[in-house]
Amino acid sequence: AAPLVDEKNAQAMALGYAADSTKVDGKKYPKHAATQLCSNCTLYTGKAGEATGPCGIFPGKHVTAKGWCSAYVKKA
Ligand code: SF4
Repeated sequence: AAPLVDEKNAQAMALGYAADSTKVDGKKYPKHAATQLCSNCTLYTGKAGEATGPCGIFPGKHVTAKGWCSAYVKKA
């Protein structure tokens, strides 16, 4: 499997990526909602039921299905 995105990676930091969406700072990211997860984001291409998967923003790496970042766009 691809390596996981490190939350402390510069790009991850810039986007406020968290491997656990429940840990996102709501004051810093007021648009964040608990229902927003990488697994239901348009940019996520992981398979349903898997814990991690690819995200278009982080080529070559995996994000967690329950993660989140400020580039979140709800899957249509
Ligand atoms: Fe997760 Fe979407 Fe952000 Fe990628 S763009 S890290 S899938 S919330």
